[in-house]
Formats: sequence, structure tokens, C-alpha cells
Amino acid sequence: MSSKRQHRLRGTLAFSLSLWYAGVFTLSSFVAFLAFYLLMKSDIQDRTHREFLNEFQEYSSLLSIKGFDTLKTVMALEAESEGIGKIFFRIVTPEGHVLASSNLSSWGDIGVGRVALKRLAGGVDHVFETLEHPGEQGTTLILYGTLAPGKILQMGQSLAENKRFMRAFRGIFIKLQLFLMVVAGLIGWFMAKRALSGVEEVTRTAREISKGALERRVPLKTRGEEIDRLAVTFNSMLDRIDALMKGMREVTDDIAHDLRSPITRIRGIAEMTLTTGHSVEEYQTLAATTIEECDRLLEVVNTMLDISEVEAGAGVLKIEKLDLAGVVRDACALFQPIAEDKGIRINAEIPDFCLMRGDIRKLQRLVANLLDNALKYTPLEGVVEVFLNGDDERVILSVRDKGIGIPPEDLPHIFERFYRCDQSRSEPGVGLGLSLALAIARAHGGEIKVKSASGEGSVFSIHLPRSPLTP
Ligand code: ADP
Repeated sequence: MSSKRQHRLRGTLAFSLSLWYAGVFTLSSFVAFLAFYLLMKSDIQDRTHREFLNEFQEYSSLLSIKGFDTLKTVMALEAESEGIGKIFFRIVTPEGHVLASSNLSSWGDIGVGRVALKRLAGGVDHVFETLEHPGEQGTTLILYGTLAPGKILQMGQSLAENKRFMRAFRGIFIKLQLFLMVVAGLIGWFMAKRALSGVEEVTRTAREISKGALERRVPLKTRGEEIDRLAVTFNSMLDRIDALMKGMREVTDDIAHDLRSPITRIRGIAEMTLTTGHSVEEYQTLAATTIEECDRLLEVVNTMLDISEVEAGAGVLKIEKLDLAGVVRDACALFQPIAEDKGIRINAEIPDFCLMRGDIRKLQRLVANLLDNALKYTPLEGVVEVFLNGDDERVILSVRDKGIGIPPEDLPHIFERFYRCDQSRSEPGVGLGLSLALAIARAHGGEIKVKSASGEGSVFSIHLPRSPLTP
């Protein structure tokens, strides 16, 4: 593996996770092994001590039953059968004079411990000593105990066998530890790679998208909740960006399409006046038409900007406490002259107060747009009704007219920008009023519902929460 690849590998999350996993696993198995090792060591030591004491008891009984000579013979035989280099016996007086012993030829000048004799004389039952013997015996365990008055038994046993066993155990332990370390590293690597495979998929998708494959999405599998949640969030973010980009494209197309006709019209009138017109009146008419068309264009551009601003989300709203009943009452009063001109009656059923939180300017525009439409699309001498009610959570404002209504095929499109039903083209308007109204309602966390039938009239109901969620 090249050093660059090695370096890259070392920087990955999978590498650090597997390293951590291997480290923690090795450390905990080491602690477990160590505890087991120490326990076993102390158990072996206890057992050796117990066996020594049992043997001592047997010799003590043998002395009292069979006498000193039999004891001497048994000890000598025992040492021969066990191995004279592994075990020895010596019977001494409390002053340390040797009365009898097994074959001590392999034990060099091993002596009698004065301290142990003194402790026995002081009344202690038995004394254990461990000493490092220079010969093949190595560490040796020695037991002193009083067999009978004036007779003290000194028994010695080499612990070399025990030591060899513990060394072998340590060897196995180290090899096992190394093996576990490698296995833990591999398992950790496998687990980390598996857990992070989803992240790699997200990265791959993001890379493909940045290269231009905007339609790509992270495939969903059940790899683990977190990764799937990341994939879902990532995909919904992409959907949102996609929708915004489509929206922007639509807006650009709409603007291009809708501005082209008035500009072409202005240009045509100007050209005609230039080529055919001679009188001041004709130039004045040109100027008046130009101003009119420019106003219309400005209105379109401004409304488009308002819609974009509101669609950016609730963040742009100036949320404050307001009385929607007051807002609706003011709007009805504002539209009263227009209604009177057409002989239309506005019936308003509005409570004294309807407190809520929202952007008052935007809500005024929303109510005005709906009232404007209701009056615009209601024939002379008609009736427009306005209801305002609600509960603790939300308020509902309904504007009902008995006007021309909306044909079913147009109903799904009326909230689209610049959409106008064929039957209403004779009325003034640019087809942006309802788009703005819906954007305002949605920015407040609300919605607009429509019921309409051709020739029977329409009901627009705005549902708004009393307190919109602020970001
Ligand atoms: P406009 O400026 O044309 O009124 P809107 O976005 O407000 O634009 O409305 C879109 C279209 O929906 C209108 O052109 C009209 O055809 C239809 N519409 C809206 N409100 C009503 C209504 N109250 N009655 C009948 N048709 C309506």
C-alpha cells in the first residue's frame, strides 16, 4: 500500500473506530485475563499450603502411633519416590540440632531457619517460609511444625513445577491476547465499514449531484436508524432544492412570458405613433398608454417580488399580536365604495375581537385579495358574505360570493402564478392575487380551501393558526 493511501486510511473515521474498538476490547480482555491469572496463582499457592499441612498432620499421627523410626523410614521413602531434588524432610530439636533427615544431597547447604524455630517456641502452630534456592529447585516452600515435644519437622518442596505451569499459562495468555487484538481490529473494521456504508453512499450521491446528476437520490435501506434518517433528510433537502429550482425556472418563464406582451404592446404603439402620428394628442395618448402599461408591469413585478419574499418562509414575517376581526372590518369598509358601484351588498358576520399573532400587513393583503376577487367576479346587484370564526387553536375566515364560479377544470390551477380562467379575462387582473394569498396563508402555517361551481359562486376559506410557528 502506498504511503499516501496509508495516510488517507489513517485519517478515516472507520480506521479510528476500529482502532478504538480493538483497543477497548484488548484492554478489557487483558484485565479479565490478569484477574484470572492472579486468582489462579493464589489458588495454587493456597492448595500447596493445604497439602503441606495435611502431610504434616499425617506425619504427626504416624509418629504418635508408629514411633520415630517408622516416621524416619516413611519420610526417606517419600522423598525418594517424589524425587530427592524436589522434596526434603528434616527433624530437628527446638534448638536446631538435626535428629533425622531425608537425602539432602541435592539441597546443598540448606539450613534450619532460626526465626521459624523461635516463632514455634513462641507458641505458633506452624510457620511457612519461601526462599530462593540457588539450585534447580528455584523458589522453595518450607514448612516448620512441632511433631511432638522436642521434635520439629522441617519440610521443603521445590515450586519449580508450579512456576513452569504459570509460565506456560502466561505464554498462552500473551498469544491469545495478540490473536484477540487482531480479531477485534478486524471485527471493528468490518462493523465500522458496515455502519458507515450509508455515509459513503450519501457522499457518493452528493459527488454525483455536484457533477450535474441533479435527479440522483440516496437509496434507502435498513442499515440503522441514524443513517437512514440522514439519507431521508438528505433526500428531502434535495427535493426542496429541486422544487425551489423548478419554482425559480417557472417564475423566470412566467415573467418572460408575461412581460413580453405588454412590452411588445408598448413598442407597437410607440412605433405606430412615430410613423403615423403627427398631432400632440396622438403623442399624449402614447404617453398615457405607456404609463398605464408601465404601472401594470410594475404591479406584476412587485407582486412577484412579494410572493418570492413570502415563499421564503415564516422568517420574513413581522409577527405581532393583532385583531383579525378589525382587519376584516377595515377591509370591508375599504371595499364598500367598489361594492356600492356595482350594487353589491357585503354581509359581514364578524365577532367583536379575534385575537391572533401574525403579520398584519400581509394578512390585510390576503383579505383584500379575496374580497377584490369576490366583488370582481360577482355580477351587479349580487351579495358577498364574509364570516369570521374559530376556536382556541385556529381562526377561519370565509369569503362567499354568488358570482360566476370557477369551472372544475380550472379549479386545480387557480393558485398558480398568472393563471386566469378564460371566462374572467374581461376583468382586470394579472393572475397573481391568489398565488400571493396562498403564499401568505402558508407562511403563517395556514391554508386556503375553495369550493366553487360554475355559475353558482365560490367560497374561499382561510384557515390560520392563532399563533404561527416562528423559526
Ligand atoms: P386575478 O388577478 O385574475 O383575479 P387571481 O390569482 O386572484 O388573479 O385569481 C386567479 C383566477 O381565479 C382568476 O382569474 C379567476 O378566473 C379565478 N377566480 C378567483 N377568485 C374567483 C371568484 N371569487 N370567483 C370566480 N373566479 C375566481
